[in-house]
Amino acid sequence: MKKLTMKFGGTSLGDAQAISRAADICTREQTSWGWLLVIASAMSGITDLLLESTQAAIQNYAVIRSIRTEIFRRHAEVGEQLIQSPDRRSVLLSDLAAVLDVFERSCEEISQRGEAEAALLDIVASIGERCSARLLAAVLQERDLPSMALEASQLIVTDNRFQNAAPNMQLTEKRVRGNLLPILERGIIPVVTGFMGATFDGEITTLGRGGSDFSASILGACIETDELWIWTDVDGVLTADPAIVANAQVIEKLSYKEVSELAYFGAKVLHPKTIQPLVERGTRIWVRNTFEADRPGTCIGPRPNGKTGSIKAVTAIRELSMVTVEGRGMIGVPGVAARTFAAVASAGVSVLMISQASSEQSISFVVPNETAKRVIAAIEEEMQRELARRDIDSVWSIDEAVVVTAVGAGLRDTPGVAARIFGSLGRANINVYAIAQGSSECGLSLVVASENAQAAVQTIHDAVVMDA
Ligand code: ADP
Ligand code: ASP
Ligand code: MG
Repeated sequence: MKKLTMKFGGTSLGDAQAISRAADICTREQTSWGWLLVIASAMSGITDLLLESTQAAIQNYAVIRSIRTEIFRRHAEVGEQLIQSPDRRSVLLSDLAAVLDVFERSCEEISQRGEAEAALLDIVASIGERCSARLLAAVLQERDLPSMALEASQLIVTDNRFQNAAPNMQLTEKRVRGNLLPILERGIIPVVTGFMGATFDGEITTLGRGGSDFSASILGACIETDELWIWTDVDGVLTADPAIVANAQVIEKLSYKEVSELAYFGAKVLHPKTIQPLVERGTRIWVRNTFEADRPGTCIGPRPNGKTGSIKAVTAIRELSMVTVEGRGMIGVPGVAARTFAAVASAGVSVLMISQASSEQSISFVVPNETAKRVIAAIEEEMQRELARRDIDSVWSIDEAVVVTAVGAGLRDTPGVAARIFGSLGRANINVYAIAQGSSECGLSLVVASENAQAAVQTIHDAVVMDA
């Protein structure tokens, strides 16, 4: 029995035309696969709107009704265009109204409390997927495909880290056996809400922004899917963000490690954790364009391929600060790095990239902009004695920093790749603050000033990626 899991992103479900394409794809694939499992993202823009409304609920409750009306309108409009059957339409409309009642009640609670508590925030954030999954399932039924909407809170069991929950795969597998496999076995196409899960006790959680890709790989792994197809609004994983690099091209094949490095360092096309559940079975992922469904897209698999040492893509993360701990007294003193990072961790901040100068006179690392002040204060507190003795001269930061990462398997073993990257940046007069080689051996990250970020990405792209 061949099994296919497909996830449709926000733009791929953004309006009637897009949903109609998504339904065409389901119709086409249904004949060639024994089981078809579908994961739905919220319609484009809806999650942002929902998160904004949690703030609005505190400041100006009156707008909540108009946001409700707007969300209802966007879904109902598609229903009116794509669903003829009056019964099916009215079931859909009342289902949507019931979900939006939850939205309104949650916003009311936020408004009364005067703050958006983490658990309430996730109930509101997941409303978009709860609406879109119902809509897509109804459209599939209208096309005579047996289908039903399912809530991932019945399937994906997570810890209680709201906004960024992690799945418990064992418990999730058990729920999938009980609540999902029987539906697939009846030949029904389940349309499951992306992005959301629930704790063991049933409190709704979300998996982090862009998390529907992760939902699809979690559920795909649990049903032992043969392939996972991620349907989005570009032709696949590209050599760079098309918004920055106009001549970015589709990458034919990528390894798990390469795509993880790309996603972790800012390529929004795939959630960074998507690969995790699929590694063990070596399941292939395809990233494809809903609006050009005949194009092959990008294939992601366990092994690297292509010319060794070639750089396949370049990506950037913005709004960062590079913090440096500096001093001659640090040379050869054991434990300085450990204490520095312990202080960072105690401030509740995770570090994106670390770079140590060869002289050991300084350690630099990159954290999100808004945490830099907190991080510096925590280090100064920890290093009071060293600062007083001048073993450490200063702890300072460059704000407005951007990490630019070049990705390609075998980077470490191929002489000359780094030289080509730095040569091209030098010729373009772009100053590099710090360098680090990714732990996965297939990424080289550089810190540059934000005003140089776009030029750095374009330069590396044209000189090294396109030239591979
Ligand atoms: P979806 O809603 O389908 O999940 P996303 O907006 O999350 O879509 O991700 C797709 C978008 O990611 C693309 O439209 C593109 O603008 C952006 N993107 C950034 N970097 C890349 C890249 N290297 N390859 C492809 N897309 C990228
Ligand atoms: N709707 C969610 C978001 O916008 C999840 C996703 O689209 O993957 O973050
Ligand atoms: Mg996405």
